[in-house]
Amino acid sequence: MFENLSDRLSGVFERLTKQGALSEDDVRTALREVRVALLEADVSLPVARDFVRAVQDKATGQAVTKSVTPGQQVVKIVHDELVHVLGGDADDGALKIDQVPAPILMVGLQGSGKTTTTAKLAKRLTERDRKRVLMASLDTNRPAAMEQLAILGSQIGVDTLPIVPGETPVQIARRAKQQATLGGYDVYMLDTAGRLHIDAELIAQAAEVRDVANPRETLLVVDGLTGQDAVNVATEFDDKIGVTGVVLTRMDGDGRGGAALSMRAITGKPIRFVGLGEKMDAIETFEPSRIAGRILGMGDIVALVEKAQQTFETEQAERMMKRFQKGQFNMNDLKMQMEQMLKMGGVSSMVGMLPGAQKMAKAVDEAGFDDKVIARQIALIQSMTRKERANPQILQASRKKRIAAGAGMQVSDLNKLLKMHRQMSDMMKKMGKGGMLKKAMAGMF
Ligand code: GDP
Repeated sequence: MFENLSDRLSGVFERLTKQGALSEDDVRTALREVRVALLEADVSLPVARDFVRAVQDKATGQAVTKSVTPGQQVVKIVHDELVHVLGGDADDGALKIDQVPAPILMVGLQGSGKTTTTAKLAKRLTERDRKRVLMASLDTNRPAAMEQLAILGSQIGVDTLPIVPGETPVQIARRAKQQATLGGYDVYMLDTAGRLHIDAELIAQAAEVRDVANPRETLLVVDGLTGQDAVNVATEFDDKIGVTGVVLTRMDGDGRGGAALSMRAITGKPIRFVGLGEKMDAIETFEPSRIAGRILGMGDIVALVEKAQQTFETEQAERMMKRFQKGQFNMNDLKMQMEQMLKMGGVSSMVGMLPGAQKMAKAVDEAGFDDKVIARQIALIQSMTRKERANPQILQASRKKRIAAGAGMQVSDLNKLLKMHRQMSDMMKKMGKGGMLKKAMAGMF
């Protein structure tokens, strides 16, 4: 999985991490190579472009952290962006089986690995989750497909619905539900018919079955080897039938892996599992951070940078605390506080941690702040000069207008921000005297 891409990327970053200083040109050249590598892995063009742009932006705005090289920092940014594009902190792939019996609908093109995946998942549910599972094939066009599921079922010790010739898919779905209910099964899986291409009949049939079964999960199985086609298929299935997740099969092959990287960004649907072979155990949950680690193959650098960043943040917080204790609290401090707030989960979380919380909450509230507004407030501070940030009292009406306009906001917004700064500054001074600040800051960082 991802071998070629992984080789290409490690080549790029090995060169980059060996250099002490990086110019913008170095980064740009490296990112151009990353882009080519992504495209060669069959990642779709807009996804590759956005990826590179995001990395470029973050690399440019990044504060330089001591004890790691700029190249190492870029590796970390690329890693984080990979995790993001692969789906972020996706769940653990656990299937929704919160009703008895829970229906799971399996859809996909013929040959995608749908029947194999149905059996793999049934085995997993049986062995790991101790669920009683019933599988049913709805492929009335291909008797061989129905038999294939029955054979797999007997291999893995999972029951299949007896085949009754002449039934329609909807009739089979109804019978499966009935059998699952009467037979005390926890889950029943419906393996729908596939076609070589998506056509109206296939979609109509799947939709009809979906309406009868009311599935808790509709999993689309797509062949990972087909790259961008897999993403197109997923888009179409999702538009027409609605899917809750994707299973990418044949990720054991020498496929280029692009489907995995484009899927989430383009379809918005999570990849839940990957198929890694023909054997019944060859399936894994899809974990973005693990996959990103595999693609980049630079786990130790990522860990190193994470650690350095933590240290850096602690040092920064300590410096800030010293300033506050001296009663110093300028716009830069406020900006840093707000950035920290956003990182920690927003205004509400910070307010909860401070001893002067109620007063603070009031100031925050009066200023009309919520998490969305904070980013814009930061923009306001950014359009001030250094002098103004250090001493906002010097702001004249004309400058206020310019600053507000520069950040795309009104002067009244800026005034709210200034008022909030004054209130916080007063509070910091009071708290600094009483020694409360130390406690408060300890809670925050
Ligand atoms: P269906 O037509 O979508 O039901 O596809 P099948 O389940 O019959 O699978 C078609 C072929 O692909 C079979 O030979 C499977 O063994 C094979 N297959 C399915 N999943 C995987 C996978 O993850 N890796 C590999 N290498 N082969 C797979």
